[in-house]
Amino acid sequence: MADTGTPVLQLHGVQAAYDRITVLHGVDLNVAAGQVVALLGPNGAGKTTILNVAAGAHTPSAGRLLLGGRDVTGAHPRDLARAGVCLIPEGRGIFPNLSVRDNLRMMTFTGRDRAEIEKIAYDRFPVLGERSRQAAGTLSGGEQQMLALARGLATDPAVLLLDELSMGLAPLVVGQLYEHVAELARQGVAVLVVEQFAAAVLKIADHAAVLVRGSVQWQGHPDSSLHAELSSYYLGSAA
Ligand code: ATP
Repeated sequence: MADTGTPVLQLHGVQAAYDRITVLHGVDLNVAAGQVVALLGPNGAGKTTILNVAAGAHTPSAGRLLLGGRDVTGAHPRDLARAGVCLIPEGRGIFPNLSVRDNLRMMTFTGRDRAEIEKIAYDRFPVLGERSRQAAGTLSGGEQQMLALARGLATDPAVLLLDELSMGLAPLVVGQLYEHVAELARQGVAVLVVEQFAAAVLKIADHAAVLVRGSVQWQGHPDSSLHAELSSYYLGSAA
């Protein structure tokens, strides 16, 4: 259930550019502990750029990034990761030639030992335990996304940033993955989810924002007015 306390993650008037082309034009966005915020919008709207700003991988040209109320604008991604920000990028960010086990073992840099990381992963996703010696690239798409989430959980995140979790996956699998995401939010994680196609994430989202050409055009509770809003921005994808 959504927490209405101080947002863990805040973007205030964030602008961002690649070379001289500005792609975010003053974005305000808050994510509280225990809340799932869905960031929706058409191709090229700037959704991934927002996640990269939130993870410290892209420094805003104006505006501020706050973590737990503290200004962390310009902080190094490594420092934000240590402070509890976990980005799971589109394409999952796993190592296809390494086994499930070795993908998890790489997360020992966080200070947790391997056994603990594996236990957390296999308790949540038993199928990963059954396939621990299998090369990650040979897992199904849904299993690969589970592995990406499990790697993220090894960092015990306060903020989870998810980019297009549903990419290339069957709706049933996407629904199951989002159930895990909802469970993480119930445990207090602040979750910001980027999706181009809204249906799956809106089942678990407490709040939604629609980004169009680098500006938030609408934000609020994901109710029926959002569906009308979405269909006016991109044909057919709100369903
Ligand atoms: P999609 O849903 O297609 O992934 P998005 O909403 O995530 O899109 P971004 O990937 O944030 O959008 O891109 C926003 C704009 O910034 C686009 O016009 C894109 O072409 C541009 N852009 C993104 N990355 C770069 C880059 N590394 N160099 C130059 N321009 C970039």
